[in-house]
Amino acid sequence: MSFDYDLFVIGGGSGGVRAARVAAATGAKVALAEDDRLGGTCVIRGCVPKKLMVFASSYREAFGEAEDYGWEVDAGEFDWSKFHTHLTGELQRLEGVYRQLLDGSGVEIFDTRAKLTGPHDIETADGRKVSAKHILIATGGHPVRPETTNAHLAMVSDDIFHMEKMPKSVLIVGGGYIACEFACILNGLGVEVTQFYRGAQILRGFDDEARGLIADMMQQKGVNLHLGTNIVEMWPEGQEGAGGPMPTASMEEAHPTYDKTAGPVVVKASNGMTRAYDKVLFATGRSPNTSDLGLENTSVEVGRRGEIVVDEYSQTAQPSIYAIGDVTNRVNLTPVAIREGMAFVETVFKGNPTPVDHDLIPSAVFTQPEMGTVGLSEEDARDQEPIDVYCTSFKPMQQAFVGRDDRVLMKLVVSKETDKVLGCHIVAPGAGEMIQLAGIAVKMGATKAQFDQVCAVHPTMSEELVTMKEPMRSA
Ligand code: NDP
Repeated sequence: MSFDYDLFVIGGGSGGVRAARVAAATGAKVALAEDDRLGGTCVIRGCVPKKLMVFASSYREAFGEAEDYGWEVDAGEFDWSKFHTHLTGELQRLEGVYRQLLDGSGVEIFDTRAKLTGPHDIETADGRKVSAKHILIATGGHPVRPETTNAHLAMVSDDIFHMEKMPKSVLIVGGGYIACEFACILNGLGVEVTQFYRGAQILRGFDDEARGLIADMMQQKGVNLHLGTNIVEMWPEGQEGAGGPMPTASMEEAHPTYDKTAGPVVVKASNGMTRAYDKVLFATGRSPNTSDLGLENTSVEVGRRGEIVVDEYSQTAQPSIYAIGDVTNRVNLTPVAIREGMAFVETVFKGNPTPVDHDLIPSAVFTQPEMGTVGLSEEDARDQEPIDVYCTSFKPMQQAFVGRDDRVLMKLVVSKETDKVLGCHIVAPGAGEMIQLAGIAVKMGATKAQFDQVCAVHPTMSEELVTMKEPMRSA
């Protein structure tokens, strides 16, 4: 049976683009369809613009510190429109780089939406019908709002990058990566930030001690964090009649488009507080993009959370169709999607079946200070086996010098039986950079004794990782 393409990729984000390029390099005939901008969530509305905003927001504190270090500084005001123009240009450049990479690899680009019409068949929104031996779904995910009336008054993370001006005040709902990162970014940019998290402590799932320190530091730096708190109802300021007990929202109401023209929003909170915020941001999780893909025309299975169900080779229940990245809701991180794409090509186009290794993936939360983490939290490790915990929390030299009360944390969770480092958790400026390196040792199965064999780099914060002699506690 002959096909128009050896591979048709749906979705031009980090995972899809990498898989398309690497497959094309094997000599395969490859096409890729993307109905939005090439680069996907990471490049266009996620990691990249977010990190640039982290950089922008860190200068306020740096200017303050610089004065104490002897500089005469006139920090002035943050100019969102100047930054935003620069950001827009940079994202256009990166989008162009992605297009060039695909073009240069001989991948045919369909700038349109694609839908499955069968196990090997695709129809694009502009009416073209093509066939492919293999199909790779890499459509990513999207932010979801809680089901509440007037949800269209609140932004989601995608909308942040399109704000026309900086709000004076913002309410952020959620306690995950996105909520905490944007709370720190906006606080750093001078916005008055309130954050509601419904649970007992932000960053659920991370090491308790590490997330506790992040929460303390966020509050110390000015984020008005309310734990055990959620929105009860919200309405446009000046339209108090629009409040009252909320009817159950329909699904359509729960997934509305943000109304950019929305003015200040009055929010009644579960802690009894009612006040207006210039903007509300829902950072309440993401869902896989599986709707309207034509999956019903295939045997592809969809899980409870809307994710495409795949095996360890990223193959779906329909043998010709594979899926990678956030649409499979395994570990929703860019480098993981890229590795899944590479493993798919290795398996399907290089005859070398390669399962994806999802164990011991280091990651960082770009709060201020950052958190870098790899392996088990203290809580998960002690449920698994007896452990020793080595940790130290101290004032870093750079900030202590200027009288600031910032604290950092260096922590190793070690197996009592094997002496293996089961988890490493760092809260510190630059923790993302540090955990990348510590992650190598942990992935290699290094023991605490091997950490200790390494000479300290002095004076640094991370030298503590190789100088902690006695366990702080055992469990
Ligand atoms: P998360 O799943 O991390 O967090 C969602 C948060 O919203 C949780 O605190 C959750 O509370 C809360 N929440 C969910 N539903 C409601 C509700 N109805 N009302 C109030 N609160 C609610 O999602 P994010 O959107 O922050 O991030 C999505 C994914 O993107 C992450 O899991 C991560 O994989 C990836 N990401 C990675 C980054 C990085 O590597 N630095 C940065 C940004 C995103 P509860 O804890 O109680 O469930």
